[in-house]
Amino acid sequence: MAEPAISTEVDTRLNLLGLDQAALRSLFTEMGDKPFRVTQLMKWMYHSHIDQFDDMSNFGLRLRQTLNETAKIQGLGTQFEGISADGTIKWLFVLEGGNAIETVFIPDKERGTLCVSTQVGCALDCSFCATARQGFNRNLTTAEIIGQLWTASERLRALYPNAERRITNVVIMGMGEPLANYANLVPALNLMVDDLAYGLSKRRVTVSTSGIVPKIDALKADCDVALAVSLHAPNDELRDELVPINKKYPIAQLMDACERWVQRDRKTHVMFEYVMLNEVNDHPEQARQLAKLLKKLPCKLNLIPFNPFEGSGYTVSPQKRIDRFWEILTEAGIRTTMRRTRGDDIDAACGQLAGKVEDKSRRSRKFEQPRFGEQK
Ligand code: SAH
Repeated sequence: MAEPAISTEVDTRLNLLGLDQAALRSLFTEMGDKPFRVTQLMKWMYHSHIDQFDDMSNFGLRLRQTLNETAKIQGLGTQFEGISADGTIKWLFVLEGGNAIETVFIPDKERGTLCVSTQVGCALDCSFCATARQGFNRNLTTAEIIGQLWTASERLRALYPNAERRITNVVIMGMGEPLANYANLVPALNLMVDDLAYGLSKRRVTVSTSGIVPKIDALKADCDVALAVSLHAPNDELRDELVPINKKYPIAQLMDACERWVQRDRKTHVMFEYVMLNEVNDHPEQARQLAKLLKKLPCKLNLIPFNPFEGSGYTVSPQKRIDRFWEILTEAGIRTTMRRTRGDDIDAACGQLAGKVEDKSRRSRKFEQPRFGEQK
């Protein structure tokens, strides 16, 4: 019997997971086909999860041939899948070129939240974040951002054949700073809320940013999704240290952008995230300062217990300190919640997403530096 031929050619066909409705329309027009094909194609792809053009029975032979030659529908390769005792699932997805990213599914009653990455590594260098230690490698393409939803829903269908678990919410809170990958993020968000694709409610897609002010304004104009801001400190002195992008866009500018954001409509608010670092940002005085800062704005505050990782130099605030912090803010009229840590037995909790980056040059350098609060 003849050996099967192994192709060494690189597959350069266009991955359609990277195209939102407008881009698909241009593609079909270029191919000389009708715009209604876009609706048909998207229904096959996103409603029936079909990835083979030959299975799209209302497409003629010629169109299928053209698509086979020039395009593909390709999710992500799974290197690892871990299921936590609490039902949280973490995937390590491999990308072309060998890097890996992490995506996490967090079930909660009827809700299923997918935490999506937007970059391999991150350039922003927040002092308490594991991803920051990798340094920055590259932006994800739109196809790789959507590929996370595609492959995660495929796996959920396989694990839960009766559809007990599915993606109802997306938080862009995985690896990377989403607003630093703006051009690839926006078409991905469009697909998440498009009824012909994932059809998620606009309030159930949340972009979390460390505070890239001009891009917050751009997002307000371009996408109707929810906004979360990683604040973590009530004053510039401390925030400069924890979230260094603050030196470029200090708190006053960030709060102004948030005020512009909530002008969108009466129901819009901003979700502020605040990681609880023992003896660093969890003093009662800091809670009072934070309350003053947030008072003017329709917002919610989410207190996140710090998830430790090796060499971080921080410890999580004891529950008593978190409770006191919560009390001060709540008494000041700020709607404050405390996040439960999920999936930490499989290193899937916030800030523990580290993936695997080929270029670790920055990582080794940075591990030699003492961290804030670290004993030398
Ligand atoms: N770059 C974006 C999104 C990714 S981080 C942002 O900064 O918002 C998602 C959330 O996890 C952020 O609020 C981030 O500050 C928080 N986080 C990072 N490291 C953490 C850790 N070790 N423990 C708890 N939360 C962490």
